[in-house]
Amino acid sequence: MASLAVFDFDRTIVDDDSDGVVIEKLREKQPPPEWEEESRDWTPYMSEVFEHAYTAGLREADVLSAIGSMRGTPGSARLIAALAAAGWQVVVLTDANSVFVRHWLEKHRLQDCVTAVITNRAFWENGRLYIEPCMRQTACARCPSNLCKSIALAQWCARRQYARVAYAGDGRNDYCPATNLPAHATVFPRRGYPLDDLIKKTLASPAPHIKAKVVPWDTCDTILEELLPGSLE
Ligand SMILES: [Mg+2]
Ligand SMILES: [Zn+2]
Repeated sequence: MASLAVFDFDRTIVDDDSDGVVIEKLREKQPPPEWEEESRDWTPYMSEVFEHAYTAGLREADVLSAIGSMRGTPGSARLIAALAAAGWQVVVLTDANSVFVRHWLEKHRLQDCVTAVITNRAFWENGRLYIEPCMRQTACARCPSNLCKSIALAQWCARRQYARVAYAGDGRNDYCPATNLPAHATVFPRRGYPLDDLIKKTLASPAPHIKAKVVPWDTCDTILEELLPGSLE
C-alpha cells in the first residue's frame, strides 16, 4: 500500500509566495489593483492582477521567469525526490494556480516526482493568464468558495487507501485540512507561520481539534527525517 504526502506550495515548497512575486513584478511597471479586505476570494483578485500585468506589458516569459527563479524552502526538492523514490504519492494542494506550480516543478526537475497538482486551473490565452477556481464550494464556511483543502483532500482519498498520510503547510487555509486528518497521519506546520500558531492554539485548548501527530519544521530535512528516517546519513 502506498503512502501519501500532501504539500502546500507557497511558503512550503517554495520559500516565497508565487502570487506575491507576480504582484511585485507588476509593481515595477504600474501599481497593482487594490486588494479589498472584505473580499474573501483571492482568485478573482489574481485574475485582475493578470489583466493589469498584461496591459502593463508583462509577458508570459517575464512572469514565468519570475516564478521559475523562486527558491525552494531548504530541503524541499530533496524531500519530494526522496518520497517519490520511496514510492510515496506526492500531491501538491494549493490556492496558487496550475501554471505557476507546474512551471516551478518542471524548472526544478520535480514534475515526475509529483503524482498530482490540485489547484486553481490557469491557462494562457493571447499572452494573458486566466485563472479558474479549483472548485465552487459552500459546504465549508471557514474556507473560500474556490478551495477548501479538506474537501479536495477527501475527494482525492475517496477511492484510495494509504499506509501513511503526511501533510505539510504554513497557512491559514492549511488549518482546515489539518483538523480533518486522522490520528495516524502527521501534520507538519512550518514553524512561526499561521498554521503553526493555529495548531498551537487548539492544542492548548481543553478540546483540541487536531487528532494527527504534529511535527513543526524549519527545514524540510525535519520532515524527511520523520518520514524516511536515516535518509540524511
Ligand atoms: Mg502556503
Ligand atoms: Zn474548509
